[in-house]
Amino acid sequence: MSQRFDELKQYLDRAMALQAALQLFEWDDATVAPKGAGKLTSNVIRILSGEYFQAVNNEEVKSLVKACQGDESLTQIQAAQVRELAEELEKLDSIPKEEYQDFAHLTSEAVRVWEEAKEKNDFQLFAPTLKQVIEYQKKFASYRAKDGQKKYDVMLNDYEPGFNMELLDRFFDTIKKEIVPLLKAVADSKVMVRNDFLTGEFSDDQQERIGRFLAEYVGFDFSKGVMAVSAHPFTTNLHNKDVRITTHYHHNLDSSLFSIIHETGHALYEFGIRDDLTQTLVGQGASMGMHESQSRFFENIIGRNRSFWIPIYEKLQEVFPQELSEIGLDMFVNGVNKAEPGFIRTEADELTYSLHILIRYELEKELIEGNLSVEDLPQMWADKYEEYLGIRPENVREGVLQDIHWSQGSFGYFPSYALGSAFGAQLYYHMKKVMDFDGLLAEGKLEVIRDYLRENIHQYGKLKDSRTMLKEITGEDFCPEYYVKYLKEKYGKLYQLDS
Ligand code: ZN
Repeated sequence: MSQRFDELKQYLDRAMALQAALQLFEWDDATVAPKGAGKLTSNVIRILSGEYFQAVNNEEVKSLVKACQGDESLTQIQAAQVRELAEELEKLDSIPKEEYQDFAHLTSEAVRVWEEAKEKNDFQLFAPTLKQVIEYQKKFASYRAKDGQKKYDVMLNDYEPGFNMELLDRFFDTIKKEIVPLLKAVADSKVMVRNDFLTGEFSDDQQERIGRFLAEYVGFDFSKGVMAVSAHPFTTNLHNKDVRITTHYHHNLDSSLFSIIHETGHALYEFGIRDDLTQTLVGQGASMGMHESQSRFFENIIGRNRSFWIPIYEKLQEVFPQELSEIGLDMFVNGVNKAEPGFIRTEADELTYSLHILIRYELEKELIEGNLSVEDLPQMWADKYEEYLGIRPENVREGVLQDIHWSQGSFGYFPSYALGSAFGAQLYYHMKKVMDFDGLLAEGKLEVIRDYLRENIHQYGKLKDSRTMLKEITGEDFCPEYYVKYLKEKYGKLYQLDS
């Protein structure tokens, strides 16, 4: 027993409680809070955020962390919490407080400016603010860089520890070399895939009914979680006994079906975190990419797999008799796998998704490390869409202004989305060796797959990073070739490409 850790824990518990309150407000704001609440709730959030900042960033905590760092009586979990906190403190400490606060203010403004610019389809409105955000982020990264570390590597490491430009260049080169020609072959294929039946007047009630069914079928535990509606689907986790997902209801039936499965994938990760880790600094997913690997695994590798629908397709037809009674299982599964280049990342199919990320990675690298100026960004964006996806956005709303990330200062975040898909594919090929993956899906035995992921990934929270986990599970370091293999097999079959 470490007395110092016990003292530190009091601060940590307080910080975690404040964080839970903040998350709850965030959830509330996006789902059921009345519109008029905004301003007054903002005051509450500002006070709570200040309290949170103070709870972790004060002199007592700093000296306790220092003392704990050399304490050999700490358990593995305690030591991991100290490590996390030390990293966070180092980050905050390397940035002058005034600049930190100015930046927080700038990004909250920037989001509003971005929203307006997007609404008005006017990049020039956003450009000066974006320039400032980038300047701050470059400055902060240079404060934090260790031993000649590149600025963009500092940013990448925040979202995906263990990954840097060297590794990501190799990953995205593979994608460029393999997926761009694959998409071209798909576009030239004579096979027509129908998905018109996925668009129509699907009532919210019907979509909710099937959404709840799907969430539960995939493994969402409604005694420890709730589901609500928001503009953009997301998952909030307070702890492993309270996980909340949202969805939206559109005219495209597949949008709500696969959002639900996606968010349930995130939720399963959070439910699966061990009791002795939850509500601590290490009681979250290993990384952003690992989290996304689980949601995308359930959404795509499981949810768009024909075998998954065998036991439940009748149920779907039962909920939508008018729209789906004439549509057979194969036509449905082919339809939800249709590949088609589009402008919007969040609506992209499995094949084109990584190309949207490739474009953002190349642009971020040029903005942070190269000579790309903000003025040239819209042109460069459009050029790359034309080069990789064969389509050119006509306006900035559907082009460079579509994502919120840069206005929030989140540079280095995008690659994790593509990494998540690639982690999932690597796990998939390994799991196929140790279990009858498709057979289990066809028999509706998802619990075997779920238990495997919980056992090997979810339970550990942040105790291990994503690369270590992959190595321990599959016996190999991160290997993007599995992702390419997966996409080639899947789309080669669907579009009858001979390889
Ligand atoms: Zn996600």
